Amino acid sequence: MRRFDGSKLVIATHNAGKLREISALLAPFDVEVTSAGELGLEEPEETEATFIGNARIKAHFAAKKSGLPALADDSGIEVDALDGRPGVYTADWAETPNGRDFAMAMSRVWEECEAMGAPEPRVARFRATLCLAWPDGHDEIFEGAAEGRLVWPMRGENGFGFDPMFLPDGHNQTFGEMTPEQKGPLTHRTAAFEKLVAGCFES
Ligand code: IMP
Repeated sequence: MRRFDGSKLVIATHNAGKLREISALLAPFDVEVTSAGELGLEEPEETEATFIGNARIKAHFAAKKSGLPALADDSGIEVDALDGRPGVYTADWAETPNGRDFAMAMSRVWEECEAMGAPEPRVARFRATLCLAWPDGHDEIFEGAAEGRLVWPMRGENGFGFDPMFLPDGHNQTFGEMTPEQKGPLTHRTAAFEKLVAGCFES
């Protein structure tokens, strides 16, 4: 496993919610953080059918273009009753000609569960894959998950994406109702990040 011993890191995302959460995770470390958006990098097309494949595309693209190590997240929500959909296509379910509409995407998920008479609880999990890539082409991959169930109607204005319909196991507030401090320790992204820290940041 390669250690991260640089002083600068690019967060390879244009997603404001992910950027906020990954920046908070990196805050305790002595690393100067910038983002793909701040550097004016394009968003590469996510052409792979797996979280790992797409995390690699984003991290390697940003590392090559910036000449700096880059950290990308590919994530999504898997619903058991829908055989794991939307999964790697979570963001795509929100696409409209005028940008992303997550209320629409969440309604579709719930309606598909209703249409098939899926029993409750409607078990779901968020998954995150982090890829740390270096400009020389090396990378390290870390995966995390957060288990829970879907609720409807959606609840809460915090967070981003599918947070308002996701109730993490052992809690009675959705991710959308939680503060960043409450959501942070429970997430798929944090679970993956802890592995990254153990592998690449700690000696
Ligand atoms: P991608 O990784 O850019 O393909 O997008 C992943 C999508 O999954 C995001 O646009 C969100 O809709 C959803 N997602 C990932 N992580 C979270 C989270 O922590 N809360 C809510 N939605 C999330």
